[in-house]
Amino acid sequence: MPLDLNCLFCKIINGDIPADIVFRNENVVAFNDISPQAPTHVLIIPTIHVENAGALAALSPTITADLFTAAVQIAAERGLTGYRHVFNTGAEAGQSVFHAHLHLLGGRSLAWPPG
Ligand code: 5GP
Ligand code: ZN
Repeated sequence: MPLDLNCLFCKIINGDIPADIVFRNENVVAFNDISPQAPTHVLIIPTIHVENAGALAALSPTITADLFTAAVQIAAERGLTGYRHVFNTGAEAGQSVFHAHLHLLGGRSLAWPPG
């Protein structure tokens, strides 16, 4: 599946922009968020360019599940027993990069409801 050469996260997948990559397989790349909101703040992204989580689910339930599998593995490696999975969809919800990404947040108490 094609990458979008104008997309920041596609550039990270390609190695054109550096990132602190913590996990990688054929379908998924995970890296530390540049502006962490918790002691663990990892972004887990598909290695195909797709705009948001819903579009990814429609395209590939397998890759969607792979994002969660990677997140659970990273959380387990760090000994996190409680953590949050977040997908922001659309600017109104805070999405700023339009390549689907799962936020994994943990390592501190997380308030609810979110802002
Ligand atoms: P969104 O707001 O779209 O849900 O999340 C985008 C996330 O990407 C933000 O948490 C932001 O800090 C992170 N981010 C933006 N640019 C970069 C970058 O160049 N490198 C890394 N590692 N994270 C980035
Ligand atoms: Zn992309």
